[in-house]
Amino acid sequence: MKITEAVLEQCKDCPLFVEGKEPKPIEIDYEKWPKDDDGNIDVLFVGEAFNVRGESILKVGKLLREYIRKYNIEHYGVTDMYKCRYTNWSMFNAKSRPGPHCRDAFIDELKYNPKLIVFLGTFASKAVTKKSVGEMPDAVTTINLRGQECHIITTSHPTSIDHCDGRDENWKVWNKRWPVIAEYLKREVLNGVPI
Ligand SMILES: [Zn+2]
Repeated sequence: MKITEAVLEQCKDCPLFVEGKEPKPIEIDYEKWPKDDDGNIDVLFVGEAFNVRGESILKVGKLLREYIRKYNIEHYGVTDMYKCRYTNWSMFNAKSRPGPHCRDAFIDELKYNPKLIVFLGTFASKAVTKKSVGEMPDAVTTINLRGQECHIITTSHPTSIDHCDGRDENWKVWNKRWPVIAEYLKREVLNGVPI
């Protein structure tokens, strides 16, 4: 992704926007997403900083991939909500909202037709639902994303299980919502209350 002046202007609401500071964009390698024969995925995981190379986030990616394997999810994508900049948790503002460029880039990923979108962590969840993980239900719910009805669920960001305050609660949420994801993919029946 090329970061142009126009993109920077659009993404002033994105986290880590600092006037005059060189942005470090995140590049998503869509070729590497394991897709089915039609080029579609079953699950789109949306988090933060999963696609940053050479960072400690690799450890976090490992936990996510371990669960993807455990629950036999073959076709999936792992993306980041904010793509215009490398995101640094310590500077993240919970009130941050994605700018038009990052919102458009996320909507464009829906062309891979995920049956379910899983938001990992409060920052990704809030960017779309305006609700934190704790405020979201344990069930799969629906949301309208620019005219497309999507099925979504949130769970903890793996980082929050590892070393954040409230990790016991985050771990509980993680363990509670994964079986719901698996069950949904098996039956594809919406068992939640629309938000
Ligand atoms: Zn942005």
